Order: sequence, then C-alpha cells, then structure tokens
Amino acid sequence: MAMIGSVGNVEIGRIFDSSLLGFTAQSWFPLFDREALRAHEHWLCPDHFDPETGRIPMPVHSWLLRVGGRNVLIDTCMGNDKERPQFPEMHRLQNRYLDRLAAVGLAPADIDYVLCTHLHVDHVGWNTCLENGRWVPTFPNARYIFSKVEYEATKAEALDPAKPAYLRATFEDSIHPVIEAGKVELYDGTYELLDCITLRPAPGHSEGHVRIELRSQDNLGIFCGDMVHSPLQIPLWEWSSVVCWDKAMSAKARHELLQYCVNENALLIPGHFEAPHVGRIREKQGKFSIDFGW
Ligand SMILES: [Zn+2]
Repeated sequence: MAMIGSVGNVEIGRIFDSSLLGFTAQSWFPLFDREALRAHEHWLCPDHFDPETGRIPMPVHSWLLRVGGRNVLIDTCMGNDKERPQFPEMHRLQNRYLDRLAAVGLAPADIDYVLCTHLHVDHVGWNTCLENGRWVPTFPNARYIFSKVEYEATKAEALDPAKPAYLRATFEDSIHPVIEAGKVELYDGTYELLDCITLRPAPGHSEGHVRIELRSQDNLGIFCGDMVHSPLQIPLWEWSSVVCWDKAMSAKARHELLQYCVNENALLIPGHFEAPHVGRIREKQGKFSIDFGW
C-alpha cells in the first residue's frame, strides 16, 4: 500500500481500522427527513447511503502525514482488545491496523506525533495496546497532543457514574495510560506543529473538538474529524448527529467549516467518509456540495 494523496509536499496515507456499518441515517440524525435526503440519493447511493436499509457506512481510519522526515498520525480509531460490550462493532477487535501501518513502511516506533481531533471511543483506541495484561502507549516515541478542554471534559464524563460505562472504560484503557506514561502534551487555544500544522478549537461535536489545518505550498487540507460524519451533511449541514455534545453548536461549526473550505479552496479530509474519503466543497446560491477526490 502506498500513500494515497498529498497536500502540497506533504504525503498523506490512510490507515484503516474497520467500519461501523450498523448506523441508519434515521437513528444517527435527529433532524432526519426522508424527503430531504431523497434529493441527494443520485450522488450518495450506493457508497454513502444505502436506500434499502437506510444505513450510512462509517469507515474508521487514521490519517498519516509525512512532514519532512516526521510522521504524524491523526486519530487512532478503535484499537484491538478493548472491552466494549455495548458496541459489538468495537468489542475485542483483532484488526490488522499495525500491519497496514507496516505496509506504508512504518513501525509504531516511527510515529513522532499523535494528534486527536477529539477523544471519542473511535478516535483514541490505538493510543494504547495490550502488553502483558497492561495498556501501554502503542507509539513509544510519539508525543500525543490533546486539547486540554477535551481532556478535562472527557475525564469528567468518565468519572461520572451517571454516564454510560464505556466512557470510563475508554478513558482508562486508551487515554489515562498515555497520560501516566508522560507522553501527552495538553494545550489551550490553538497549537502549531512543524511549521505547517495548526490545531484549532472547533467545539460542537464534542466540547474540545479541534480541526487540524495543514498548509503546504499554498495548499490547505483540513482534517475535520467528526465535524462531518457523512457526505449527506454537506448539503444538509443542519443535521447534527445524535452523539453531538451540542447539536446547534455542531451545526454552526460545520457551516463555518464548509464556508471556509469554499473560500480557501481547501481539501476536506473527514474521519468517516467512504472512498474517495476526501473532497473540495463548492457553494452555489447558499447550497453546499462536494467534488470528491484529491
Ligand atoms: Zn468518530
């Protein structure tokens, strides 16, 4: 497997973990409207929406950036061996994620930075792996860069007994061990890395969600995590997901992101789009659309 694209002179690879196939558009989007969606079926079906089952497939992948001689990983998917009995598609996985990293020529020790757009269960899993019964950092030489707001909010939820049990499990097996190992840098506001990467607060989907902007040779790519889960949210940007922390704020942040992509001719690089995974946003008479591809 080779790297699949680039932004300027930064090569980009996609490291696939596995797909979440169980969500329907109706269950995922509280504002779901079958008629509104029908107008977009001609370009969404069959890859991004299955009209028979109503499902929206969500592949879960990391993005790998080669910046000069440095390797940067964005989001770390679900991970192997995690106890997630509430989510059969994430429970005790035995995926070949690290083999796929090896296929682009990298060992875990080659990763220099791990960036998380947010700290949800499908974005932190490979932060750690199981070694002799203990959760240890998967990437032993990496600095893990987390938003302080996101970290504090995630920790507070994990410690709240009224919240679902998986939140505590995720914190304990995928977040706390990298903190304890002294690998994490927490930042407030924006964070600059390697002269071409900016992590910028974009709350809504989660309290401390960030978008990650990559600028190289006058090109801009935006790793937007879960600000957009499905391409259908480009024309239907008001549709926030059932798991968004603040649905109104999430919609506002999504609109701002899409308009920014139009203005800057930026490449949108989300966390869960089916192939070709990325695209450029266009706007006509106030309506957004996407031109898929690098
Ligand atoms: Zn996600």
